[in-house]
Amino acid sequence: MKIMKILVFNSGSSSLKFQLFVKADLSVLASGLIEQIGDLKSAAKLSFVDSSGLLARELKRSDPVADHREAIKVMAEMLRESGTLVDSGELAGIGHRVVHGGEAFHEPVLIDEIVIADIEELIPLAPLHNPANLMGIRVAMEHVPQISQVAVFDTAFHQSIPEHAYLYALPYSLYEKKKVRRYGFHGTSHSYVARQAALYLDRPLNELNIITLHLGNGASAAAIRGGKSIDTSMGLTPLEGLIKGTRSGDLDPAILFYLGRESGLDMDALDTLLNKESGLKGICGENDMRTISEAADRGDSRARLALTMFCYRLQKYIGAYMAALGGADCIVFTGGIGENSATVRQLSCQGLERLGLTLDQEKNRIRQKEILEIQAADSRVSLLVIPTDEEYEIASQTLQVINKLMAS
Ligand code: ADP
Repeated sequence: MKIMKILVFNSGSSSLKFQLFVKADLSVLASGLIEQIGDLKSAAKLSFVDSSGLLARELKRSDPVADHREAIKVMAEMLRESGTLVDSGELAGIGHRVVHGGEAFHEPVLIDEIVIADIEELIPLAPLHNPANLMGIRVAMEHVPQISQVAVFDTAFHQSIPEHAYLYALPYSLYEKKKVRRYGFHGTSHSYVARQAALYLDRPLNELNIITLHLGNGASAAAIRGGKSIDTSMGLTPLEGLIKGTRSGDLDPAILFYLGRESGLDMDALDTLLNKESGLKGICGENDMRTISEAADRGDSRARLALTMFCYRLQKYIGAYMAALGGADCIVFTGGIGENSATVRQLSCQGLERLGLTLDQEKNRIRQKEILEIQAADSRVSLLVIPTDEEYEIASQTLQVINKLMAS
């Protein structure tokens, strides 16, 4: 019998990340990444690994991959060669990560021309991401038009946030005319780890108040009541909220007027400043938390300051979301930093004992791939480290859409 499969795409402006799952149990068959697409001067970088780990490859093509159309062919070749996907007839569906779904999308949807037009319309809200995501969708639809394709949005999970939390205190007409509001991102990760937390705690998700902290190069927090997001730290764009690798997170918006007037910075320069030159990098010159932690351990005062600022901001959001939720049952750390940095977890929980949150220092230092429980015995709030898996979540949501389609 033919084993049916689900393919997940995460298409960036110059990269194509993919993962292949078995439809029946969503086990991973293969995953890969094609980078430097469109860079005609250098060879594309390919990496590919199949589930046995036997076929792990870091391939360097001697020639460039001109565009996403060619990238998809290269991917199909790698899958075919590895024997993990020999024929497109084995595909039950393709799931595409789409960053911005605006207010149009509350859940994953089957892609058709109308959906494509809607995603296109949202480009002004995500000018870097949505066009890249669309490119992946278009070439995949061209390549295998007979296969059901599903869009899974980063913003969709946060569409449950109530009006009083998603609106900015700006003239209401800006929301009506320009759709200026909080959307939030990392939705697939927040929803995945919240569900995993409920399974781990063996309690119904709809009875839990959970704060999820997705801390990677980008970082965001979410307050989740009964499985629904009621607030999140990223806003109209991923800039707001926590301090990130190169992004400032929250600041006084008047800083922009001040810098515009005093330093003559125009809009583009301000955009670059806040998105690319600020955050951890702005404070200590480094944006990678591992490097920063090592420098802080060696006594580098700026690195220590950057680390302290990152954790202090995080702590303020934990406090805010405990208030928003009226108390939390569980706090989840995820993302590259959340999953790996015992220091960040320790500093951000430090001093919150009165809020019912006590870390067990020993447990916090354990490193393991599985879910790790790190609260002390007397902590009222569970503290969990849960590895995120956005590709799995996209595959799972894609499957739900396909199953619904088959049932109707
Ligand atoms: P992205 O948002 O790009 O998916 P990741 O979730 O992979 O990023 O997170 C990347 C971040 O995780 C980097 O800042 C990296 O330094 C950090 N990180 C990874 N491992 C560790 C570690 N052992 N200690 C501290 N930080 C780590």
